[in-house]
Amino acid sequence: MKIQQKIRWVLLGVGVVPLSVFIGVYSSTFYQASVTEGRSHLNDLAASSAIQISNVLLNATRDSRALAATDWTDGLTNQVTSTKLSQFTYSYPYFKEAFWVKPNGVVFGSSNSRHNGQTIENLYPQLRESFSQTIRQSAGKFTLSETKADDAAARSLAFMLRVDNARGEAVGVLITSLLTDPIQVVLRDAQLRAPGETVAALLNSHGEIFASSDGSDMHDTHQWLPRLGVSMKSDSSQEKTYVLEDKHGKDVVAIASLPAIGGQEAGAWRVVVIAPLDIVTQKARQSLVQTVAPMIAIVALILLISLLMGRRVAKRINLVVDGTHAMSKGNFAARIAVDDETDEFAELALAFNSMSQKVEDMVLEKEKAAENLATLAASLKLNATQVESSLAHSRKQNREITLRNELSELLQSCLCIDEVGSIVDHYLPQLFPESHGAIYLSADNKTAMNALAVWGVTDDHIIRPEFVNEDCWGLRRGKPHCVDETGATSLCDHVTPPLPMVSICVPMIARTETIGLLHLEYAHLSDLGAAGDNREQTELAASVGALLAMAVANLRLSAALLEASIHDKLTGLHNRRYLETALPREIARSSREKRSLAILMLDVDHFKVFNDTHGHEAGDAVLRSLGLALRENCRLGDTACRFGGEEFTVLLTDTGEAAAREWGNRLRRDLCEMKVRVGSLVLPPVTVSIGLALYPDHGDNKESLLKAADVALYDAKRAGRDQLMCSGESQSHS
Ligand code: GH3
Ligand code: MG
Ligand code: MG
Repeated sequence: MKIQQKIRWVLLGVGVVPLSVFIGVYSSTFYQASVTEGRSHLNDLAASSAIQISNVLLNATRDSRALAATDWTDGLTNQVTSTKLSQFTYSYPYFKEAFWVKPNGVVFGSSNSRHNGQTIENLYPQLRESFSQTIRQSAGKFTLSETKADDAAARSLAFMLRVDNARGEAVGVLITSLLTDPIQVVLRDAQLRAPGETVAALLNSHGEIFASSDGSDMHDTHQWLPRLGVSMKSDSSQEKTYVLEDKHGKDVVAIASLPAIGGQEAGAWRVVVIAPLDIVTQKARQSLVQTVAPMIAIVALILLISLLMGRRVAKRINLVVDGTHAMSKGNFAARIAVDDETDEFAELALAFNSMSQKVEDMVLEKEKAAENLATLAASLKLNATQVESSLAHSRKQNREITLRNELSELLQSCLCIDEVGSIVDHYLPQLFPESHGAIYLSADNKTAMNALAVWGVTDDHIIRPEFVNEDCWGLRRGKPHCVDETGATSLCDHVTPPLPMVSICVPMIARTETIGLLHLEYAHLSDLGAAGDNREQTELAASVGALLAMAVANLRLSAALLEASIHDKLTGLHNRRYLETALPREIARSSREKRSLAILMLDVDHFKVFNDTHGHEAGDAVLRSLGLALRENCRLGDTACRFGGEEFTVLLTDTGEAAAREWGNRLRRDLCEMKVRVGSLVLPPVTVSIGLALYPDHGDNKESLLKAADVALYDAKRAGRDQLMCSGESQSHS
């Protein structure tokens, strides 16, 4: 059971039950008192009415007695008597009639002269007995009797008084008939002073209604009237009021007895005041309502206030309970509304709010700490990711640097472009993973590019092996050209479908010369790496391209320098420096292959004279033609060198003496037939002397073989020139 219900029950128990008991007891007591008061009031009315009616009767007695005291001697005539009686009723209008009746019962005089001569018995039969009693009793005593001429006549009270003469003999009876009007006035007055519907009546000694406040005999409306005497007699409580019931309901009856008067016993005549019970209790009820209702209203108000206060208390308790429940469910922002009151609940609410505020602060602090922790963790994770990414990037860069250094080192060690090609095949796919690409070198005509190395080529992805420079925006612009959108208008024409997502063209430029092109293609952006950034790849490609450009340029330069260093510019033949390296190599190869090697030393005969004769330019022309003849006569693998001046050395591999001789003599013949022109001038043919030495016959090393050939040449000169001499031939001749 909730506290609100408990309070309600407590209030009901404390307030309503005692209140009900109190109101019940009080109401009952008050009601009874009010009813008693009402009945007492009726009783007072009856008593006062009885007194007033008694006064009326006593006054009537006194007036009648005064009339009786006048002269009623026998000598009076009827006329005089009647006049006297009429004057009496005139003076006392509440008397209806007055009679002077002879002891024999004959009316001698009357206020109503028409009654004269009639007997009283005829006029008022019900007075007969009273009249007889009056005649019998002594003079001066009244006899009170009710009179009524007939049923239709109004009731009246007759006062009879015997009048005696001086001798004490009855001379007649004075009868005065009193109207009911003064009695009715008294009864009406009582009625007026009583609650509504109250009637007052005077009952005669027979219990009949003599007069009533409403003028009726009330037998029709109060059927208990005949039982009234029975009720009074059976009542032992001496109550002066009675509650009697008939079919119309209950009536309260107050009874007051008239004192003994006119021969009537005390209590023979009674005044009754009759009021319906409801009328009597109505006042009590009204009084009760007027008294108790405010009490009930006040108590109800107090109860209502108590209930409201209880409800308010319960409501405030509920607020505390709700706040506690809310907090227990995790709603730490729950607060109890605090109003202006400063009672215990307000203190409890304030204490609760303070506590919940602290809890909420703690929870918020905890959540904030957790949030900070989460942020820190996220930050750490992010940092870790960044560090990892950075590490991966660093690793990638380190790997790239390592690979690039290796590449650079190897490129520097390359002796020829082909070696560059195989190195590129190995390293470029590692430097540019997931890429398809090629290294192009500029063709000799400088207008096209030829692939030196291609990687990542599949059936689905083709790299063109060659293209013209115009097809490449990178070559046109002379700087790296990167396109990262398929279908872009600036995509190079040498890129073939299916078009890649990223295309990078890096011209390889060294010493202002475009050496070639590094071309990369990526099918997807993600192939560029985690960052998907083509700038790094372009920069790396530019760096690698520069390395390659420099390497190729250096190789080409080296080749050119080497070419220049071992070739004779005038004749187009190798020079003596080349011979210095070629001869030992050929000796070694011949030795290895067990073959012979012929070394021929040639010297133009009398060339000084020729120069002097035809000019140095002509001499040069001859030397050029001689070089051409030597190249034309050499096989692949043979070597022809300008040894210096007008001297030449020829190495004929796998050639014996005979073949060498034949080769030399044929050359001499060709030279004889050779026509060299300088301008329009045809120069005369020149002759040559030839010294032949053979490996291994005439030496097993460079020096010995060259010496042998040179000696043989000298021998040929000395023998007359324009001839071939083999080493040791002159000695065999001599
Ligand atoms: P020999 O028959 O004895 O060899 O007589 P020679 O005149 O040829 O020999 P010598 O050593 O006396 O003279 C060699 C000449 O060759 C001298 C020089 O002018 C000429 N000569 C050497 N080199 C060149 C060259 O490059 N061009 C021209 N035009 N002449 C050269
Ligand atoms: Mg010479
Ligand atoms: Mg010479």
